[in-house]
Amino acid sequence: MRILGIETSCDETAAAIVERDEQGKGHILSNVVLSQIAEHEPYGGVVPEIAARAHVEALDGLVRRALEQANLTLDDVDGIAATAGPGLIGGLIVGLMTAKALAMAAKKPFYAINHLEGHALTARLTDNLDFPYLLLLVSGGHTQMVLVRGLGQYERLGTTIDDALGEAFDKTAKLLGLPYPGGPAVEAMAKKGDPTRFALPRPLKGEKRLDFSFSGLKTAVRQTASELVPLSDQDVADICASFQEAVADTLRDRVGRSLDRFSAEFPDCPTPALIVAGGVAANKTLRAALEELCAKRGFRFIAPPLNLCTDNAAMIAWAGAERAGSSEPDPLSLAPRSRWPLDEKSAPVFGTGR
Ligand code: ATP
Ligand code: MG
Ligand code: FE
Repeated sequence: MRILGIETSCDETAAAIVERDEQGKGHILSNVVLSQIAEHEPYGGVVPEIAARAHVEALDGLVRRALEQANLTLDDVDGIAATAGPGLIGGLIVGLMTAKALAMAAKKPFYAINHLEGHALTARLTDNLDFPYLLLLVSGGHTQMVLVRGLGQYERLGTTIDDALGEAFDKTAKLLGLPYPGGPAVEAMAKKGDPTRFALPRPLKGEKRLDFSFSGLKTAVRQTASELVPLSDQDVADICASFQEAVADTLRDRVGRSLDRFSAEFPDCPTPALIVAGGVAANKTLRAALEELCAKRGFRFIAPPLNLCTDNAAMIAWAGAERAGSSEPDPLSLAPRSRWPLDEKSAPVFGTGR
């Protein structure tokens, strides 16, 4: 079973072909991603209108390249999957309409994929992993702890009550005068800094709920920085290191609670696992903190390769392939959804009034 996947929900235009063999194992036949970072960089963040136009210009060429690299034609694929939400509506429309047109022209089944489901299932493409498991999704737009019970069975245990973690990195970078995207810039500066110089808050630490909060941390960075103006390079490095340490400490507490919750519900699970996904999972300090936490609690820690942690179409193709093995295709009347919580079953269909 081979699926062509399309991803256009944010600032990456992507197409990929993934095969799911008879044993259920995944093979990436091609995976092409065009990042729009350069287009958005002057604005310090993603501009939806620019993103949608860039998707229109790039997508058909990328689909062609994905097919060429896999040495296949459209006839050779068994289905077409595209991100139907959540994300920026302009980009979603471009990807979904393209996928529907290809599905209609080539008479192939069409699968509308929730972007978050793509992230949630990626580790089953790269690793030998059975349900249930925990997923920590930390990106520019999302910060969620998800209990993945099975295919199509996702329970959001916790979510950010304000900023996403990647957003906190990006805003911190911006107010320190560092380039966009902020995560890699903050991480690089933190290497030269003293993580103990500033005592920044650990939001929600110790609380029973499984949610996250990062806006207070960002505000504390702003206050700290404003008291030091003009900032030396060492000040910036020390703030970055202290910020990153505060995030690591917060994640140890917040994620630790979810591990407890998992162990309480599945005491007999032979190999409990925590998966991380999203661009923030690139951060080495945070990865190390989570890895150590998992080792202490007897959890497997799985971080898919970086190019599969950030937005890509292989994860969408794979989610389509998993779906194709167990459920019906989606109707071509299905509409994209800018907001689509993972625990809601499917995107609405045109004309139902939903
Ligand atoms: P989403 O996937 O939620 O729609 P997105 O496109 O912003 O949103 P990704 O592309 O997965 O998400 O991740 C980008 C985010 O990851 C940015 O906020 C960026 O700052 C952050 N990031 C990237 N590298 C690092 C790093 N080394 N440390 C911390 N954060 C990082
Ligand atoms: Mg992105
Ligand atoms: Fe994403």
